[in-house]
Amino acid sequence: MKIAMLAQNANLYSHQRMKEVAEARGHTFDIVKTLACYMNIASRAPRIYYNGAELPRYDAVIPRIGASVTFYGLAVLRQFEMQGVYPLNESVAIGRSRDKLRAMQLMARDGIGLPVTTFAHDSRQTEEVLKLAGGAPTVIKLLEGTQGIGVVLADTDRSAKSVIEAFRGANVNIMVQEFIKEAGGSDIRALVVGGKVIAAMKRQGGEGEFRSNLHRGGSAKSIKISPEERATAIRAAKSMGLNVCGVDMLRSNHGPVVMEVNSSPGLEGVEKATGIDVAGKIIDFIEKNARDGKTRTMGKG
Ligand code: ADP
Ligand code: MG
Repeated sequence: MKIAMLAQNANLYSHQRMKEVAEARGHTFDIVKTLACYMNIASRAPRIYYNGAELPRYDAVIPRIGASVTFYGLAVLRQFEMQGVYPLNESVAIGRSRDKLRAMQLMARDGIGLPVTTFAHDSRQTEEVLKLAGGAPTVIKLLEGTQGIGVVLADTDRSAKSVIEAFRGANVNIMVQEFIKEAGGSDIRALVVGGKVIAAMKRQGGEGEFRSNLHRGGSAKSIKISPEERATAIRAAKSMGLNVCGVDMLRSNHGPVVMEVNSSPGLEGVEKATGIDVAGKIIDFIEKNARDGKTRTMGKG
């Protein structure tokens, strides 16, 4: 097969692993820089250009679109979809998971366990929003944040109020969430591929840190998750419509709650913690499922 990967940095562990596995199985694997693609939008003739030439026709495209290039990256991915190229994750599904409020709303509709979450645009609603989230301690998150940056724990209502006001003053969108104290600074990342959890790890934040992000100094180890956690991860992936994703959950007193669904999960942490060949499972999925024209949306939506 001819596989393209849309990625800004070809050298990341995750990208190199998928390339290595695909090439070892005899596939062609090109890493195409997302932002270097350019397109012409002509009636019924969707083309994509790169380095001065038209891209060849691929059998499948693996989108690894960084949060900072979501807007343009999804447009490039849609162009592939319009050509009928099979996307590992569809543009619409990635768009759902990238918008944290939209993702939460969709999962709530599907009855998936979530932390109590509130949001408002108007800063005059600050106190009300805090009250609805159950009061301090509370977690305040930037909607556009990743890697734990922009996630703040406020111990008192007073500090929560000032953090919310500061964020709003900077004109950024936030959400306010109940603090799941019993998670003890750890969370669970379940890797879902094709509707199955293929690997799971527990991440633990460093000493005195409530955020378990590996980028914030957290550590990871393999764990066995409960059937309820497994079902929650699978339902979250389905709710977003993602074939491949990392579902982050907290172990709360009221069962597993989903914090976010990541459409480009990193492979290094999870492969090293579990010893599972995640890249191999992703390429397996593409081999089984990639068919021309088998995109549900063909770039629509
Ligand atoms: P990011 O997208 O920046 O990774 P997350 O929503 O995943 O933001 O939050 C980062 C980390 O902070 C999580 O992995 C988790 O350890 C911790 N955390 C986030 N929300 C809560 C919460 N409501 N209660 C307890 N811990 C939380
Ligand atoms: Mg996270």
